Amino acid sequence: MLAEEQVQITAPSQADHFRLAALHRYHILDTPACEDFSFLTELAAKICEVPYAYISLVDADRVWVKSCAGMHIGELPRGESYCSLVVLSEAATEIPDLTLDPRTAHMRLTVNAPHMRMYSSVALTSSDGFAIGTLSVLDTKPGRLSDDKRVMLVKLARQVMALIELRANEKTLEATVHELELLATTDELTGLHNRRSLLHRLKFEVARARRFRSPLSAVMIDLDHFKKINDEYGHAVGDQVLANLGRLLRENVRVIDVAGRYGGEELCVLLPSTPVEGACKFAESLRAKIEAQVHYAGTRPLRITASLGVGAFNHIEIDDVESLLKQADAALYRAKHGGRNRVACGSD
Ligand code: GH3
Ligand code: MG
Ligand code: MG
Repeated sequence: MLAEEQVQITAPSQADHFRLAALHRYHILDTPACEDFSFLTELAAKICEVPYAYISLVDADRVWVKSCAGMHIGELPRGESYCSLVVLSEAATEIPDLTLDPRTAHMRLTVNAPHMRMYSSVALTSSDGFAIGTLSVLDTKPGRLSDDKRVMLVKLARQVMALIELRANEKTLEATVHELELLATTDELTGLHNRRSLLHRLKFEVARARRFRSPLSAVMIDLDHFKKINDEYGHAVGDQVLANLGRLLRENVRVIDVAGRYGGEELCVLLPSTPVEGACKFAESLRAKIEAQVHYAGTRPLRITASLGVGAFNHIEIDDVESLLKQADAALYRAKHGGRNRVACGSD
């Protein structure tokens, strides 16, 4: 009988699958210690007048302790934890003498120091009705909690669950805000910064370059005869070419650089801390990569070239957003008129 029950505790059943899914939805396992949870365990120990209290979460093969009052426990194998009993059978929430119960007499916290004797706990129940863990109190003396204390423990367990829900909601909200930020700043087709975000970052980089008198360059990129691609192969192929170029740019800029879609088939890369010579080298290598990239119209391979214009801060007349973009634009114009598929730099 004892061996059978031990197996049941250590090997989660099929039904445990749904319970585990409920637990994992809270993203609480292995999170750092937190004062709000500590406060609730301390309160549980104080109210129940016992030396130990734990908030434990029952994972697939371990019981992970979120918070403890008394002896610190990080985690225990499921087969060594009293809490596993509670999630398996919610009735078994109070064991007046752990040495007399065949399910717990062999467990290490009963046999070894601190020689636990009394265990009383309340299940932490998820909003969809699964016991994901427990709020438990323990003593080294055998005994039972009074009715008043049990009522308080139930109320505290509800507070623990409310806190777990709150933390999970905060996390979801944070992730949603991050996702929305990304959506609001990303160009859907190319995966680059959209125009608004590019100009916002440009303002920021210009302010920084002025403040620290650091170099700042901008590379304007305009595809050559792009209209022909649309006319010959259709708009969808044109879109695919733009998407491929977006990926090429993302893969070839440093983390501090900002690659964005300035307009239709005009792209722009901001290069902070980069003087004109470095920016021109970068632009030339990008030009070669764009020329080498193969796109497909169905199975038919095609290539495209681009003209690039580099503008760079000189902290004299090129020292703001407008003058920087104007210089890059003028250089781009020269690259186009010089025969396309080339780079023109600064004012030369
Ligand atoms: P040039 O070498 O002088 O730059 O020639 P071009 O044909 O690239 O220049 P032009 O400005 O005349 O045409 C740009 C074309 O880019 C026209 C427009 O249909 C196309 N375009 C702009 N945005 C998109 C887009 O999002 N998708 C597709 N497929 N085409 C776009
Ligand atoms: Mg254009
Ligand atoms: Mg063009």
